[in-house]
Amino acid sequence: MPSATQRDNTAIPASLHQETARMATLPQVRAAMAWFRANEEQLAKWQAEMAAIPAPPFGESPRAAWLKERFQELGLEEIHSDSATNVLGVRPAAGKQYVSISAHIDTVFPAGTPLIIRREGSRIYGPGVSDNGAGVTAMLAVAAAAQAAKLSHALPILFIGNVGEEGEGDLRGIRHIFSDPRWKDSISSSLILDGAGTDTIVSEALGSRRFEVIVRGPGGHSWSDFGTPNPILVLARAMDAFARTPLPAAPKTTFNIGVIRGGTSVNSIPESASMRVDIRSTSTEEMERLEAALRGELDRTVTQEIRASERRGAAKHRSPKLSSEVIPIGNRPAGELAPNARILQIIRAVDAHLGNAAQLQRASTDANIPLSSGREAIAIGGGGLGGGAHTLQEWFDCTGRELGLKRILLTLLQLANPAR
Ligand SMILES: [Zn+2]
Repeated sequence: MPSATQRDNTAIPASLHQETARMATLPQVRAAMAWFRANEEQLAKWQAEMAAIPAPPFGESPRAAWLKERFQELGLEEIHSDSATNVLGVRPAAGKQYVSISAHIDTVFPAGTPLIIRREGSRIYGPGVSDNGAGVTAMLAVAAAAQAAKLSHALPILFIGNVGEEGEGDLRGIRHIFSDPRWKDSISSSLILDGAGTDTIVSEALGSRRFEVIVRGPGGHSWSDFGTPNPILVLARAMDAFARTPLPAAPKTTFNIGVIRGGTSVNSIPESASMRVDIRSTSTEEMERLEAALRGELDRTVTQEIRASERRGAAKHRSPKLSSEVIPIGNRPAGELAPNARILQIIRAVDAHLGNAAQLQRASTDANIPLSSGREAIAIGGGGLGGGAHTLQEWFDCTGRELGLKRILLTLLQLANPAR
């Protein structure tokens, strides 16, 4: 869950308020907004249609193909899938730098999950309708309204339906974009659409590092091989020592041991034991410090146990070989926007113009990748209301979607029309 951050002292220059108000009255922009108002039925149709196409982690291709067709209908150019199966399309303009608008297309639901999507009044029910049906639909709405209103902008806009945001996807889609020489230095700012709503701005990237820790030993009979190093005991000692590592109150840093496994029967010395560890912080340094503590305590515990088993004489007929391994299974870099970042001032000015109240948040989203390398990025919702994310009871209500779409459009257009 995202958490509200304390820092919210963005001073918005008066010129930005004026520019927002001016932009909102341009005939093209008004036409785009009228498109939003008149086409909710089309949006709900896209949203339900897309949610019915499976997109489990590492299995997003069918949904990517669907999105590619929509990009074609909406007149984007240079439409293609990259080698990570992200779908890209461009709304061209004269400028050299791009502004990106992206939404992840993957879901948390494993392959084979029944995707029963149901519409009832203003609501859509079913897995993924909000996370990220709402985000992808908002991205399509912007492309459609821009086409209908013949919107012009100084910088080209890069539309991205990216894979691999959820869970073990580990942000691989957006990571791929920002490591591609074609894009990594040419995207000047990124607007990321994730989930429903208009009440948040993710401006801080909560980082995480995840590890599978395995301790292996020779194993043996509980009676006749007694004294042989026991991986479960060693892991338990390492776990306890690691859990005593002091943590700072700020920047908030946490750890969790979420899974432990090991052993086969009550009268066998196990051959292995493992645990899964999750470390989180907004500070990369703190995550590195905790990772070092984890590795250090593990090495120390293993070494102590080898010495102890040698003293016990367990090495006489069995080698006391004991080893450990730390396998990274997830790495989301941390980062945050500078308090005076232009993208933050823009969305603040847009919210003021629309009378929308939004809180700054710290969360783990696709924005982690650009934010961690000092680029300007925020993640916001696609409008409407949503609930039950990551459950089969997920729902989306289009009430208030229009506000969300206006918010996205006004922000995007200001990013794409930088002040001279
Ligand atoms: Zn999401």
